[in-house]
Parts: sequence; C-alpha cells; structure tokens
Amino acid sequence: MPNNKNNGNNGRTPMLGLIVVAAVFLVAILFGNRLLGLLFSAGQEEVSYHTFLTDVADDKIGEAEISDTQISYYLRTGENEKKGKLYYTNRMPDVDLTEVTNTMQENGVEFSAAPADDGSSSLLFSWIIMPLIFVFGLMLLLRIIANRSGGSGGGFGGIGGLGGIGKSRAKVYMEKETGVTFRDVAGQDEAKESLVEIIDFLHNPRKYTAIGAKLPKGALLVGSPGTGKTLLAKAVAGEAHVPFFSISGSDFVEMFVGVGASRVRDLFKEASKVAPAIIFIDEIDAIGRSRDSRFGGNDEREQTLNQLLAEIDGFDSSNGVVILAATNRPEILDKALLRAGRFDRRIIVDRPNLEGRYQTLLVHTRKIHLAEDVDLRKLAQATAGAVGADLANLVNEAALRAVRMGRHAVNQQDLLVSFETVIAGTEKKGTVLTDIEKRIVSYHEVGHALVAALKKHSQPVSKITIVPHTSGALGYTMQMPEEEKYLNSKEELIIELQTLLGGRAAEQVVFGIQTTGAANDIQRATELARKMVTQYGMSDKIGLMALATAQNEYLDGKAYMDCAQTTADDADNEVRTLLNTCYEAAKQILLDNRGLLDEIALYLLEKETITGDDLMAYVNADANRLPAGDSEVDA
Ligand code: ADP
Ligand code: ZN
Repeated sequence: MPNNKNNGNNGRTPMLGLIVVAAVFLVAILFGNRLLGLLFSAGQEEVSYHTFLTDVADDKIGEAEISDTQISYYLRTGENEKKGKLYYTNRMPDVDLTEVTNTMQENGVEFSAAPADDGSSSLLFSWIIMPLIFVFGLMLLLRIIANRSGGSGGGFGGIGGLGGIGKSRAKVYMEKETGVTFRDVAGQDEAKESLVEIIDFLHNPRKYTAIGAKLPKGALLVGSPGTGKTLLAKAVAGEAHVPFFSISGSDFVEMFVGVGASRVRDLFKEASKVAPAIIFIDEIDAIGRSRDSRFGGNDEREQTLNQLLAEIDGFDSSNGVVILAATNRPEILDKALLRAGRFDRRIIVDRPNLEGRYQTLLVHTRKIHLAEDVDLRKLAQATAGAVGADLANLVNEAALRAVRMGRHAVNQQDLLVSFETVIAGTEKKGTVLTDIEKRIVSYHEVGHALVAALKKHSQPVSKITIVPHTSGALGYTMQMPEEEKYLNSKEELIIELQTLLGGRAAEQVVFGIQTTGAANDIQRATELARKMVTQYGMSDKIGLMALATAQNEYLDGKAYMDCAQTTADDADNEVRTLLNTCYEAAKQILLDNRGLLDEIALYLLEKETITGDDLMAYVNADANRLPAGDSEVDA
C-alpha cells in the first residue's frame, strides 16, 4: 500500500545502526589522537625526518619549534624572510637532538622548545570528546533498541528519547487530521453509506447513548488490495474530524512473544486518551487468522489476537473509539473476531465497476492537466478489473510520461500506454478481461441468474457483476440473502442444480464453447447432486439408503462412502444422470428465452453491474410481452 508505511526495511536498520555505532567507536579510539593532531596541525605539511635533517644541513630553515613529539619549522625564503612554508616532522624516539640544535645555532636559526605539553590536547580528547562520542553512541544504540522493540512510533503522541525504552511502543501511525474526505473516495457508495452512521456517532456519541443504543465497536472492511479500504477508513476519520490511528497486522509477524500484545494494549490506551478516535488495523488476517489451523499454533499471534479481543471487549464504545479493520481474506479470520460485539459488521469494498473506475479517474485527474483528447470514459472501459490503486498509479505514470515527452498536458495516449505498464508490471494481468472474455463471462453470469429467476419466480440475485473478483472468479453473482432455511425440497434442489449449471449452459447455447470458468459451478453442482443421491435419499434408483456418512458437519462437511463398490458405481451413475438432466433443462430454458438472455447479457456487458431489481424488470417486461407461461419450461 503506497502510503506512509515504512514496513519495508525494518529488519535491516538496526543492524546497520549497530555497525555505524561500532565504526564510530573504533575510529575514535584508534585515530582519536591522530585526528586531534591533524586538527591542530592544520595548515602544516608533514615531512619525513630525513627531509628535516637535510633541510637543517642545507641551511634552509628559518625558524623551528621543538616539542616532545614533533618538530615544526618554517622554511626560509629569503635573507629577511624567515617564515616561509610551515612543515612538521615527528620526532624519532630516543634520538638526541644536540647535533641538530648545534647546527641550527651555527646557521642562526631561531629555535625554541614548544610550551611544555600540559597534555591539553589529549586531556581535551579524553575528558570531553571521548565522553561526548560515548554518550552519542549510547543514545544511538538505545534508540535503535527502542525502535526494534517498539517501532518507530512515527508521530506517535510525542513519546521519544530515552523514556520509551523497555516499554514497547506500538508501531502506530497517528494523524490528528487525515484531511481525507468522502469526496476523495470514488465510487464505493454502498461502503460509504454503511460508514455514515459511524461518522455520525463519532460526531455526537451522546445522541446514541442517550437512547441507550450500543454502537458497533468495529467494522470489517473486506476487499481486494488497493480498492481503497485504508482510504475509506481515513475518510471516516477525516469526515468526523477525529484522530486516526493505524497499525498493520503484518507488523506483528516475526516479533518477540509478548511484544505484539503490548503494542495492541498501548494502541488502545493512546486512542482512548484522545477519544473520539478511529483505530485502523490493516491486514488484520495476519493476526486474526483462525487459531485452529492445521499448521500448529503460533504463540505470538495467539497472544496478540487474545489481547486484541480483550481490548475490543474491554473498551467502552460509548466514549467514541471505533475500530475499523481491513482484510481481503475474511474467510480465514478467527470466528472469535467476528462474534457479535466485535467485528460483526462487514463492509464490502468491491473492485470498482465502470462507473466507479470513471469516478476514480476523475478524482485522481483533478489536479492533472489533461489534453483535449482525453476520454476518461473510454479509459474506464479499457480498465475493467483495475482497482483504485492501479488507477491512481496509472494517472501518475501518465503524468510522468507526459513530462518525459516534454508536454504540458497528459493526453489519451499517455494514459493508455501507462495502463499497459501499470497492469503488466503487476500480477493483475489475469484480472483484466479481453472483450471476448467479457462477453463470455457476461453470458455465463446471466445464464445463472436467468435460470434462477425464471424457475423461482422471484428475484434470485441482488447483484451480478462481471468485474473480476478477489477470489479469482471472473464475474460473480451476489445471491439474495436467503431467509434462514432448514428444509429444502427435492424440487428446490433441482432448481439449484439447474441454476448452478446455467452458466455453462449459456456458454454452450450462445458460443458453442465450454470454458474453465464453470469449474467451480460444476464442483458445487456435483457435491450437491452427490448428497441428494447418497445422503438425502432423493434418487429413485438408490432409494432411501444412505451411502455416505457425513464426517464432520462443522468443519468441512466431507462425507465418506460407506457402501459396496457396485453400489458406489450405481451412485456415480445416478449423480451423472441427475447432473445431465439438469444441464439439459438449463440449456432448454436459455434456448427458449434467448432474446431475454441477449438483452440482459448485453446490458451487463455495457454496465458491468446489474442489480437484481433491474434483472427482474427485464424478466417481468418479457413475461408481459409473451403469453403467460411461455417462459416456463420444466425439467
Ligand atoms: P487498500 O487499503 O484497500 O489496499 P488503499 O486505501 O491503500 O487500498 O488505496 C491505495 C490508493 O489507491 C489510495 O491512496 C488512493 O490513491 C487509491 N484509491 C484506491 N481506491 C480508491 C477510490 N475508491 N477512490 C479514489 N482513490 C482510490
Ligand atoms: Zn458460474
């Protein structure tokens, strides 16, 4: 996520810091005196003792000063000019200078002893500079240690310096005012709608508490990376004018046991100090992963998760702290996190459809100079499958390209070329469909929906979209939230099978092809058909005999066959027959309603999303056009 999170080189910094500190110490100890000497002998040039002796013998010296360790001397440049260039040489240990001074005396050189070395320089070094270096190094070291155990705490409530050591600080980013509003978030109207209440609550908690209403403590934002979950959370904080605390679940990975938990504790403490506030936990799946995983537990994660649960349960939502968490894998979250009173609200942050992409492009081109020929609608059409982050990135790349080309405005070509690079540079290529793929997906999805609508006589779906989805499905159909249902009749299950196979049926009827897109449908249909035959006693041929026993209803619902091999063969045949019959029925329904299928599929192709209401409007209009019952074909 391309914002202010420097998760990247965390591991390396402390090592690097240690090396730097060690280097400073080493240099100071080894060369300290020498460095000082250099400082004091600035402007002099060092010469060898040999040169010095030669200069003495050649009578070149004007003036000299002799100390315990060095001899400094000026070369004579003329008769009266005794102070030419200044040189110095180190004294040879244990060498008597009598001869040298005698020669100098003869030559009339002014020479004297340096003021007795009171050790001022080494005193200065050992009593002032050394300690300074030491303290500096120590501070650096402590800082690094503090950072390592507690994070850099960028902008975090001013806890700094030495005070934070030992007490691990959360690697939390706090913004007093995010400055982001809903205007900056394009599309995502449904998500925004769900968040409006939270904003209102943060504005005025008393309004809610006065009635005795309990507000949700948290909401889970679910959606692919880059769809704007962080942005939405910031916008909530921005709209409500409350501080925004954020932390990422992935920061907890590879941490010392206990550190994660204390970070979580600190985070909540800091947030409630300044409440009302928003706490945003990105990538919550990194901590909130289901605990009953097969790969054994992870102590640190479990502790962190438990602490998080404890904090969520412990704080009083009436003082106005709201937790928003983001994930793109809600299915792996620990059930405890999703329980009532915790993250029981789920807000879907979808990949944007055509309109959403257009709006996103508008938002991100607000401050960009666009050439006349730019057609953002066309660009939006070409970028099916791209998420908000891709589009933001694309616009920026295009601007950079325009600058490279020496232009003052971004033109359509810049945008299209940048799209190629942005998408090609990522692994998202698979999520951007070609035109023909889009057609197929569109028909496939409408195939499902139409079969269901015609057979059930009620709105079967709340929404269909052909925007590729996180789960890898190229398009998907959002089922109507079903009323809790415990019993299903055989007829209902058969309609279910026909609906599941309606996708493949549409591919076959319209294009005469079979695609891989139906794999999941076929798997689900087969599972259902197998249950009907082996567990529900719905096959005449097999009868009321249970051939399989469900192993564990709650975990995965897998059943194992518990019958003779020949009976298993029969069961397989029955399953196949059942599936084939339903498939043929689905095909027939679509053939009989081909006009309607085309109409809806083309609408979906154009708009990328169709609501259940729109779908039913088409179906009902069609039913009114035709004599009643004509759209009715039974299996
Ligand atoms: P997520 O948290 O879902 O991974 P982010 O919120 O970090 O995604 O989005 C990254 C960037 O992509 C945002 O800073 C913004 O520039 C852009 N972006 C994503 N979604 C939208 C959107 N709906 N409207 C405008 N910009 C968006
Ligand atoms: Zn399908």
